[in-house]
Amino acid sequence: MKIEKNAEIIAVGSELLLGQIANTNAQFISKQLAEIGVNMFYHTVVGDNVSRLKQVIKTAQERSDFLIFTGGLGPTKDDLTKETIAEIIGRPLVINDEAMASIERYFAKTNRMMSPNNRKQALVLEGSDVLVNRFGMAPGMLLESNGCFYMLLPGPPSEMKPMVEQEAIPLLLEKFGHNEKIVSKVLRFFGIGESQLETDLEDIIDSQTNPTIAPLAADGEVTLRLTAKHADQDETKRLLEEAEAKIMDRVGEYFYGYDDTSLVGELVKACREKGLSLSAAESFTGGLFSEGITNISGVSSFFKGSVVCYTNEMKNSVVGVSEQTLRHHGAVSAECAKELAAGIKSVSGSDIGISFTGVAGPDSQEGHPPGKVFIGIAITGKQVLSFEFIFAGTRSGIRKRSAKYGSYLLLKELENE
Ligand code: ATP
Ligand code: MG
Repeated sequence: MKIEKNAEIIAVGSELLLGQIANTNAQFISKQLAEIGVNMFYHTVVGDNVSRLKQVIKTAQERSDFLIFTGGLGPTKDDLTKETIAEIIGRPLVINDEAMASIERYFAKTNRMMSPNNRKQALVLEGSDVLVNRFGMAPGMLLESNGCFYMLLPGPPSEMKPMVEQEAIPLLLEKFGHNEKIVSKVLRFFGIGESQLETDLEDIIDSQTNPTIAPLAADGEVTLRLTAKHADQDETKRLLEEAEAKIMDRVGEYFYGYDDTSLVGELVKACREKGLSLSAAESFTGGLFSEGITNISGVSSFFKGSVVCYTNEMKNSVVGVSEQTLRHHGAVSAECAKELAAGIKSVSGSDIGISFTGVAGPDSQEGHPPGKVFIGIAITGKQVLSFEFIFAGTRSGIRKRSAKYGSYLLLKELENE
């Protein structure tokens, strides 16, 4: 069994509409409720305004049977969530003795006078299950009216979060029975465009309902979010694994990691696991690749360092690219990329050397168009490799893309180590 409720969140507060704060409460509540199998269909934000709040509630009542409010439970004039719901469902507000006692204790403890509007905070909708507020004064509540459930939560996240975790979730589970779990898993891909990935998987994506598969493209990467639902957690896991296997069968060569990882993160992991040290020679990327690596703490155990060798002189004098190569093939060439990779590997004494040479643009260079890029990889005991690309885009885009490709190519090489 699962919680058969169609829910929506109504966040109340003009500061949300003005952009002063983000609706992080809705995100938190959604995530918590997804874990117990509640279907969440809408998020609404409305200002501290009675008539608009009424309108929003009426709309919500027509399409959902579980309305979750956050904000506007406080003592001030603009806090009007409880009062408005009371009016709409025709339910009086009554003093909750427990909440009143806790408010009185709070004032006694802080040695302050209680003002009349603080009494307002002890009011709850008649017939509610009260959700204790351990970090503030306004209690939350859950009640039913005409087959629709209303849950009221305070606005401050420091009060709302513990209330949801410690009070609301256990109460919902107790009231609505056992739950269906929703579990998500993200598969990350690189080196394949979003449209290509979607085309390759079209039939799988279209026919798949549990788990659902949702593609998303960002920062030159594509991810697939798999979301499975089932009461039995082992079954959720099995459903996810089954869908993942089908996907990997088609586009596995572009896969690099799960969930919140990154290409650089995976590369760092691989170097550590295999006990291989790394160094880089960067021309047009100007250190971007190394910046990514050194963003992760503790990499000095395997990352020796890098040389930003922007001019031909530096490529020659520091990294050891031969004058002949520079003269005959130019700096933007497969030969130069290979000599840079092998050179930095030998200068630093590392197991792996990687290099980046190319034209970031906007102008052409040595007769090559902007976006022409060579990445070299030298690994002890293996043939030195070079990879050639033509990237489109801005100077900054080409540089970032190249640095990412460096991580990706190296990662793929290390997979076979
Ligand atoms: P209080 O008793 O503090 O007045 P309240 O329940 O009346 O609490 P609001 O007055 O609506 O809540 O909001 C208080 C504060 O809580 C806001 O100023 C904001 O910092 C935070 N807050 C409110 N709603 C949200 C939300 N949806 N997401 C994130 N933060 C929020
Ligand atoms: Mg308030």
